[in-house]
Amino acid sequence: MRVKDLFKQKKVFSFEVFPPKNTSSVDVIYNTLDQLGDLRPDFISVTYSAGGSGNSGLALDIASKVKSMGVVPVLHLPCINYTKSQIDETIANARARGIDHILALRGDINPDIPPAEDFTHASELIEYLRTKGDFDIAAACYPEGHPDSDSLDEDIDNLKIKVDAGADHLITQLFFDNEFFYEFREKARAKGINVPIEAGIMPVVNKKQIERMVTTCGASLPHKFVKIMQKYENNPEALRDAGIAYAINQIVDLAAGDVDGVHLYTMNNAYVARKISEAVSGIIEV
Ligand code: FAD
Repeated sequence: MRVKDLFKQKKVFSFEVFPPKNTSSVDVIYNTLDQLGDLRPDFISVTYSAGGSGNSGLALDIASKVKSMGVVPVLHLPCINYTKSQIDETIANARARGIDHILALRGDINPDIPPAEDFTHASELIEYLRTKGDFDIAAACYPEGHPDSDSLDEDIDNLKIKVDAGADHLITQLFFDNEFFYEFREKARAKGINVPIEAGIMPVVNKKQIERMVTTCGASLPHKFVKIMQKYENNPEALRDAGIAYAINQIVDLAAGDVDGVHLYTMNNAYVARKISEAVSGIIEV
């Protein structure tokens, strides 16, 4: 079943994985996928690096593996560094493998890689994909506003262009304070954005992730979150359990707030995904 139709029946619960940088870790990711597949998510999305780094070549193979497990694969497709003919090639390869769900993205602009200039925004890629056949198309959104926008209102106006271009559903950037999600959703609905909005939840379970959160993620870190991370940052097991519990609390609250779905940034960690899935299965119909 298409993901856009699933939203009409239930809260959607999905996972995100990324291709390993090192090709010698391919067996590890396939093993992780087997474990994630056992949790029966509604789809698994596979990231694709905008600049082609991070072993994006593996993304299609990983998406094919997801499909072979009987789970819907969603292929991320950034456009800023790709020409139309490169995009054509990727979608033809996806089609040939039976992959018909795409998360259409601009991609982050890398100062060392000049944009390919065929696409400036994700909305243009979505318009283009709509001329290429029947894809189920997701797009990204930002509860705290995208860093390139001057305000959340401006970003939501641009999001409306993206949805009007043909996005079937939206997946949010990670956030640690659900109030940002609720305020964003209310504003988006008020501006006529009526497609399902899945909340992107990132369980922070190790010290490396905390450091990355603090320096690069752009999401606000609520006092409660910082207190927990500081308390357990040097106790790996406690930090893992605290990060899992924090994510579960976020999901329980979101479900009570009638969220359309939850997208778990698994960081390729099947243990964490399993703990969270088990804890919320009755609430979110996993
Ligand atoms: P856009 O929708 O193009 O928005 C970018 C900026 O331009 C925003 O400020 C927006 O307000 C503005 N804008 C948008 N449309 C218009 C318009 N028509 N006119 C004027 N301004 C406009 N990156 C990767 O490289 N690979 C991945 O696999 C990947 N996966 C992601 C998954 C999720 C769920 C999310 C939330 C992000 C992901 N990213 C990924 C990161 C993403 O590529 C970056 O956040 C990027 O900076 C913006 O992408 P976008 O598709 O949201 O861009």
